[in-house]
Amino acid sequence: MHDFMLAKEIVDDLMKIVKSEKLSQIEYVNLEIGQIALAHDGHAEHTEDISIDNLKFGIKNIAKGTILERTKFNIKKVKGDHWHLTEIEAS
Ligand SMILES: [Zn+2]
Repeated sequence: MHDFMLAKEIVDDLMKIVKSEKLSQIEYVNLEIGQIALAHDGHAEHTEDISIDNLKFGIKNIAKGTILERTKFNIKKVKGDHWHLTEIEAS
């Protein structure tokens, strides 16, 4: 569940960057993902292990039809309770 919620957050963030930097294409994005605490479906905030496969699948689905459609996502799991973009290669 968190993987799909996180996928939406990542794509939203990237689209903001695309707009503000006026990018026309992003070749690849490097991301670091920790354990993300979220509240959803009536549950209090809790952490869940993120599945990289689900996360990539979610990103692919949400990015369909956008300029992120062909972007390659390199996702690395890290310790901690946050995620961040480590690199964006735009053209
Ligand atoms: Zn959850």
